[in-house]
Order: sequence, then C-alpha cells, then structure tokens
Amino acid sequence: MELFCHRRDLRLADNVGLAAAADRGEVAGAFVFDPDVLDHASDVRVRRLLDGLAALRDDYRDRGSDLLVARGDPESILPDLADAVDADRVVWNRDYSGLARERDAGVRKALNDSGVEREAHHDAVLHEPDSIRTNAGDPYSVYTYYWKKWTDRETDSPAPTPAAGDLVDVGALTAAVGDDGAVADGGAETDRVAVGDLPSPADLGFDAPDAEVGPAGTEAARGRLDDFLDEPVFSYEAERDYPAREATSRLSAFLKYGEIGIRETYEATERALAAAQSEGDEERVESVEEFQQQLAWREFYTQVLYHNPEVVTENYKEYEEGIEWRDDPDEITAWTRGETGYPIVDAGMRQLREEAFMHNRVRMIVASFLTKDLLADWRHGYDHFREHLADHDTANDNGGWQWAASTGTDAQPYFRIFNPMTQGERYDPEAEYITEYVPELRGLDADLIHEWHELSPTQRANVAPEYPEPIVDHSERREEALAMYKRARGED
Ligand code: FAD
Repeated sequence: MELFCHRRDLRLADNVGLAAAADRGEVAGAFVFDPDVLDHASDVRVRRLLDGLAALRDDYRDRGSDLLVARGDPESILPDLADAVDADRVVWNRDYSGLARERDAGVRKALNDSGVEREAHHDAVLHEPDSIRTNAGDPYSVYTYYWKKWTDRETDSPAPTPAAGDLVDVGALTAAVGDDGAVADGGAETDRVAVGDLPSPADLGFDAPDAEVGPAGTEAARGRLDDFLDEPVFSYEAERDYPAREATSRLSAFLKYGEIGIRETYEATERALAAAQSEGDEERVESVEEFQQQLAWREFYTQVLYHNPEVVTENYKEYEEGIEWRDDPDEITAWTRGETGYPIVDAGMRQLREEAFMHNRVRMIVASFLTKDLLADWRHGYDHFREHLADHDTANDNGGWQWAASTGTDAQPYFRIFNPMTQGERYDPEAEYITEYVPELRGLDADLIHEWHELSPTQRANVAPEYPEPIVDHSERREEALAMYKRARGED
C-alpha cells in the first residue's frame, strides 16, 4: 500500500504521481493542512482550497475510497500517517517554489529516518523547469526564445486515472485512522487525521471571503475547458484583450489548484489546433497557438521561480541604484479600493474584490498604474493580489508584477508606461466593463468616461458626483516615473 499526498494537484485524473502509485498496487490519498502554508494563505484562497478539496473527496468517494485529511507539520505527520495506514511509500508531485522545496527536503529526511520510502514526480507543468535551457546551458530569461523550445518539445500523454480498485476502500481507511484521529503519538496537538472530514475556514483561522470564488473541481474545470475549446479559443487572439467579452478560458484557478491536469488540457488544445489546421483557417490556427502560448507563460514563470527563488521578494533585474519608490499610503489605499478616479483601474480593482479574479489586460493596466503612476513598489501590489486572487500563483503573480514594474525577466522597458485612459478607450470602448464594476459611472456616455481626467471638477461633479477625482495627473507622473527609473539606472 502507498500513500499519495495531494498538494497543488487536487484531482485523480492525469495525475502523474498518483498514477505511478496506483500502477504498483493500492493507494490511499491524503491532504495535509500545513500551518506554515496556512500562514501565507488568505480568506479567498482558503475558501477556494476547501471547495477544491471537497470536489476531490467526492471523486474519491465515487470510487469507493475517501480522502485522508490531516492537519499539522508534514514532517511529523506523514511518517505517522504512513505507519497508521501501513503504507511503505509516500508519493507526491513536486512543487517548485523555494519554500516548497525546503519543506519537501524536510519531509524526505523525516520519512527516510522512519524507514518509509518516498517518491516525487513532475506533474504541474508539461516541461519540468530544468529541462528547457539555452544552448549555453543557462535558464531562459526571455520568453520568446523559451517558447520556441517549449513548443518544439514532445509532450507526454495524460497520466491514466486510477480505477476504483486501485484506491483503498473506505472501511480500511476508517479502521486505520480510528475514531479519535490521533495518529501522531506524542505529536503536536494539531497532528490529527480524519477520513473525509474537512475543516471549516474558521477551524483554520480564516473568515468567509467577501468575494465569490467561483466553481471548483475537475468536473467544473473540464466543463470550462470544453466550452472554451468549443468556439472561443478560435477567436482568442483577436478577443482576449477585451475584458467585457469573456473571451478567455477562466481556467487559472483550476490550473493553480491542479484540478485539471496540464497534459489533459494541452492535448485538448492540440485537437482544437488540428481541427483548425484541417479547415485551413489561418486565423483560427493562430488563435489556438496564442492560447498555447499562455500555457507556456505559466511554465516560463515556473522555471524563473525555480531557478531564482529569491524573486518572491527581490527584483529579478538589478538596477545600479535602488529604485526610490514613493509608496504614498493614501494613494496605495485608493488603488486597493478602486477609488483612483481612473475608471478602468477602478473597475479592475473592484472586479478583484467582488470576484477574486481580474482580466489579464486589466491586471497589466492596474499594475502599471500602481508602479508607474503611483510610483509604488510592486511588492504592495503583489501582496494585495496574493490576498484577493483566487488564482494567486507565486510564479505567475510575481512574474506579472515584475514584468509590469520593469524589474523582471523579459521586462517591458521602463519607458513603456501604460496610459490608463487610452487603454480603457481601446480595450473597453463602450465602457461596458467599466460600468459593470463602477456603478457611479453608469448611464454616462463612454466618451465622457474615457475623458474623465480631462473634465473640469465642475463637469465631473455634474455628471457623476459620487465618482472620485483622479488622484494623480498621469502626464506628470509619467515624467516622474521616467526620472525615477533613470536615477535607478544611474543615467541621471
Ligand atoms: P487565459 O487567457 O485563458 O490563459 C490560459 C492560462 O494560461 C491561464 O489560466 C494561466 O494559467 C496561463 N496564463 C495566461 N496568461 C499568463 C501570464 N501572463 N503569465 C502566466 N500564466 C498565464 N496568473 C495566474 O494564474 N495567477 C496569478 O496570480 C497571476 N497574477 C498576475 C499578476 C499580474 C500583475 C499580471 C499582469 C498577470 C497575472 N497572471 C496571473 C496572468 C494572467 O493575468 C492570468 O493567468 C489570466 O488572467 C487568467 O485568466 P484565464 O484563465 O482566463 O487566462
């Protein structure tokens, strides 16, 4: 018998580690709530995680098994759990952040000391972080070149889904864990295990979030992928930048929690690509490829984090002098509340609070606004996103922020600064997205909304008295931002 430990792979299907364990015989699935991980969690993400775990548990139950749910330090609990269920090996899929790798090293040692075998697999990405390097053997720091190698590589087929007979039956699990769930003799008080019994957010020290976190689980993820590949993917390239159009897959949280496998996802896009190619429609072909490129961005940032774990808190790119961020607390608060007086920025920040999600184009706009209009350190933005995004992923979030702040890999040059008004005009011409999230501006002509910064205070007070004045002047701040970056580059 083997124990499979789920972490960021809350699924049975296309799960490399689980399939490997099931291939050898019976396997029991477990999830451990690690206090160190919970220390970095948020209300939104705890809710989303619990929803994903409930779906995973139901998938186990459908196959006559159940999910072992433990709480405590994995280093102490996993050897005890393996002992309780009589497992001779503990298996998991790798996580690539610095913290996760440190934790896994501790778990490996603890299992080793207890005489339990362990095995880790690559599962979260199509191409493991170390496998794509420049011809000189270095990790890539420029996406375009990375993508070329990524797309030329062979991909594995989806890993098989374990059959009912591969999973331990519920009776055996319940008997092993016992009524009191105390598997850890002498362990910490939190070291407890239950069969299928998930805690509430309050049990874990979290509140119910204000935002709707969206559906969870493999079935919902597959439904979303099918709907997206049915038609939207074929116009993705032309439509993806328009936040009012719902033209993207909305798969990010499912991929983050691993509720759908990346091999299964990619293989489905390959079928869509083949269909477009057989129709000979170049636009449709390019659209599918554009979508595949986004999946590659996810793997690009995963390998950036893997090779540079310090980017979580440090700039990837070094400036000669430090960047002198202004960090005005009132301006940062106005940004977090969606009260900057720049409509597309405010719409994005309010979408984030309401839906625990924000459209990609708008993420780029609000990130540029924070760093280059408010001259605030990208780490403030990253922290806020980390708290509110259901799809928060250390690698992608950090990569996105550092790109916007011109401190990252493949950074947009510091002199490219988004103009929030022209971005709004271009990508939300009818102001449909803006007015969905900013009710104070409903009923106004789109032109007026896009000219908000140019109206006089009296005009603004007449047409939308509830909506804030712009908190900064974009043209002035643009010049200040350029000067700030020049100083940091030693060009002053
Ligand atoms: P789609 O357009 O349908 O893309 C499909 C998938 O590709 C996404 O689900 C995601 O897994 C991946 N992807 C798409 N764009 C990117 C990208 N630029 N970088 C990395 N992966 C990408 N994405 C996250 O998953 N988690 C984050 O915490 C996150 N934070 C971001 C912060 C900033 C400042 C920026 C600019 C971008 C961030 N992104 C993040 C990337 C991107 O905005 C989201 O992945 C995307 O909006 C999710 O919507 P979707 O699933 O409909 O995307």
